[in-house]
Amino acid sequence: MSVRVRYAPSPTGNFHIGGVRTALYNYLYAKSVGGTFVLRIEDTDAERSKREYEDLQINGLKWLGIEHDEGPDKPGNYGPYRQSERLEIYKKVTNDLIDQKKAYYCFCTDEEITRKKEIAAAQKVDPHYDGTCRHISKEDALKRIAKGESAAVRFLVPPKSYTFVDKVKGEVTFPENMVGDFVLLRSSGLPVYNYACVVDDWMMKISHVIRGEDHVGNTLRQLMIYEALGVTPPIFAHVSLIIGSDRQKLSKRHGATSLASYQEQSYLPEAVLNYMCLLGWSHPEEKTIFDLNEAVRVFSLDRFVKSPAMFDNEKFKWTNGQHLRNFSEERLVRELSNVLPKNHKFFEYDYANKTLVVRIFKEKVELIGEMIPMLDRIFDPAVDQTPEMDEINSWESTPKIKDYMRKELSLMIAKGKEFVTIDEVSKWMDDLKQNLKIKGKPLFMGIRGVLTGSAHGADVKELVSLTPINVLRERVG
Ligand code: GLU
Repeated sequence: MSVRVRYAPSPTGNFHIGGVRTALYNYLYAKSVGGTFVLRIEDTDAERSKREYEDLQINGLKWLGIEHDEGPDKPGNYGPYRQSERLEIYKKVTNDLIDQKKAYYCFCTDEEITRKKEIAAAQKVDPHYDGTCRHISKEDALKRIAKGESAAVRFLVPPKSYTFVDKVKGEVTFPENMVGDFVLLRSSGLPVYNYACVVDDWMMKISHVIRGEDHVGNTLRQLMIYEALGVTPPIFAHVSLIIGSDRQKLSKRHGATSLASYQEQSYLPEAVLNYMCLLGWSHPEEKTIFDLNEAVRVFSLDRFVKSPAMFDNEKFKWTNGQHLRNFSEERLVRELSNVLPKNHKFFEYDYANKTLVVRIFKEKVELIGEMIPMLDRIFDPAVDQTPEMDEINSWESTPKIKDYMRKELSLMIAKGKEFVTIDEVSKWMDDLKQNLKIKGKPLFMGIRGVLTGSAHGADVKELVSLTPINVLRERVG
């Protein structure tokens, strides 16, 4: 059997990280067995579906590097890949089901259905459809439709239980009578999700359906439809829910949930993939840091975790830091350049200084964006007002360092120099030690406080070599 899997988002909002995880698992499974990964856009909710949301999904997948093999933008043999373009297909399949008496036209209005549900609720009985239109013949129904009445199409639910074996949850049984006859096609001609999904999974030859646990309940209706169509259902794998620290399903209440918000915070695609992969699945060697190629190599459907996956922002950020530190300096310079405003002074550095920036800051950050305030500080002549700086300024050696630096820096400015070298900073230190007899903490902390304006930071010589001389001069006062 050739493996064909799909990611089937409804384009009604942001690309949610739960969707990222579903797309990733499907991609990994397809690639790990040489299968095909399909993107299907489930846009039958005409009011809420928007092309811009579809673009968010497609661009997000591209950014993550988990691109589909077939989809609305990549024609294959099973298109169209947008449900709104498949309405004729659903109509034809529905007609066949009606002919086989597995579905029927229903003329009940929304108001009638709502009223019946209210009565059922008041009587504490199942709010199932009462079967009013079940016995209207196709001929009579078509006559009523020809006269202008509008009709939905309902599925005739067989009185039996259903069982399937889920790759994650094991055997799942739905007892008889859980659902009443449900709508397949609305009177507008638009299919409901459960119906369009089955018709498409069947026609697109989907072999495995990997999706969130919140869809288990839908599987009952889907199994019924497969049976009515005479089609073997795909293999299902319902992966555990992603929950927040309060153990509730992850939602906006817990903070950022869209891929875009993590992109804005400068998360790397490698880290998003790595962390999402581990939310509901585990590496065979229990590794926490790995890349996409490795994930493809070791992925299997039998390592899904049954319990809900707790989304932990700190762990996610830490994962990002681990990937960041593995990057080449060249890649880090590129990533930093991407998050800086276009007119940032960083772009005036030569390449050696650019790489020095990422080298001295990379151990101090988890996100590349966290380098921005550190970088801004280099160009800011301000001097911190902190107790530690007060202490440095209270030492009798500090004014001597200031006098010395004032002279040295003014000389350099007169010569038209813009930056000092690391060697020149070393020479100043030697000079202060030999000639002004300043040593130990007063020397190291003194020079740091005077030249960087802060009591803490990266290596002082490197930091000073990255600071424009006029900024150093201003700090000295
Ligand atoms: N359009 C559905 C969703 O976004 C797809 C569910 C499925 O994978 O069957 O939740």
